[in-house]
Amino acid sequence: MSIRFDGKVALITGAGAGLGRAHALAFAARGAKVVINDFGGSRDGTGSSTSAAQAVVDEIRKAGGSAIANGANVADPAQVQAMVEQAMAEFGRIDILVNNAGILRDKSFSKSQPEDFKLVLDVHLMGSINCSKAVWDIMRAQEYGRIMMTTSAAGLYGNFGQANYAAAKMALVGLMNVLAVEGRKNNIKVNTLAPVAATRMTEDVLPAEALQRIQPERVTPGVLYLCSEEAPTKVILAAGGGTFSTATIMETAPVHIADEALTPEGIAARFGQIADWSTARQYAEVTQQVQQFLAPAVQ
Ligand code: NAD
Repeated sequence: MSIRFDGKVALITGAGAGLGRAHALAFAARGAKVVINDFGGSRDGTGSSTSAAQAVVDEIRKAGGSAIANGANVADPAQVQAMVEQAMAEFGRIDILVNNAGILRDKSFSKSQPEDFKLVLDVHLMGSINCSKAVWDIMRAQEYGRIMMTTSAAGLYGNFGQANYAAAKMALVGLMNVLAVEGRKNNIKVNTLAPVAATRMTEDVLPAEALQRIQPERVTPGVLYLCSEEAPTKVILAAGGGTFSTATIMETAPVHIADEALTPEGIAARFGQIADWSTARQYAEVTQQVQQFLAPAVQ
């Protein structure tokens, strides 16, 4: 069954380059009308220009597709609101939001300044919140919505020099978890991409040979699937160079420790069992996870 987006409107942030551009071209090629947002700044978030977004719009129109450009800074809620109003005025609905815009301020934690954290959190986390919030009630009223967050393995697993970025990227997983739960009854599905791709973000950190294999276009089909009618929800899809996997938060089986052994030494004695991943499980919602503490099985 072929996946199409005819009649659907997709808003892609940071779509003037890299992964966002690849997503936008693919949505347009499969029939979506696309809002190409890009602030057009440099990799560290300075400067701005609408030429990158406009170039992608031109490319889509040339191929017979429908697209508009928008230069909003996703970190600014007023600009985001105006962008959503522009999209509604032009296309009348918004079905898909891909939160993709991002910047880097890589520094060791020792050298990091509060401003680096603030800027990176503003763009990645507040940007995704601002855009999701601006489309949320539209999607609720339509009883249809697909939202993507873009996280990173740096957040999921840790990477030297990326404390600000990892903090912002992991926060998006928490945001997805709650929006997926709250969106369920209105057919709003919320998923997260953890990509690896050759873009200006990675051009100087990955080997040239690897860069040739990991074009953004080899990630994008995963995004289109997660924004389709049949999409699952609350999935973290890791993707790069045509290879895909899913990531999740898991927890080991609960170990209840009786009061007489409830000491630091008692924890140390049982820590091997507490941290035994062979019995790990996933929880669909917090209520399931909390239950083990409220009514523990004594072992
Ligand atoms: P990129 O720099 O090519 O693209 C990011 C785009 O976002 C740029 O065009 C930029 O102008 C735009 N942007 C930045 N700040 C913005 C703002 N405030 N408002 C609107 N637009 C803004 O980088 P990319 O690699 O394509 O990154 C896309 C996303 O994927 C980012 O969220 C990034 O963190 C994430 N990511 C990328 C990789 C990778 O391997 N490339 C790995 C993990 C995560």
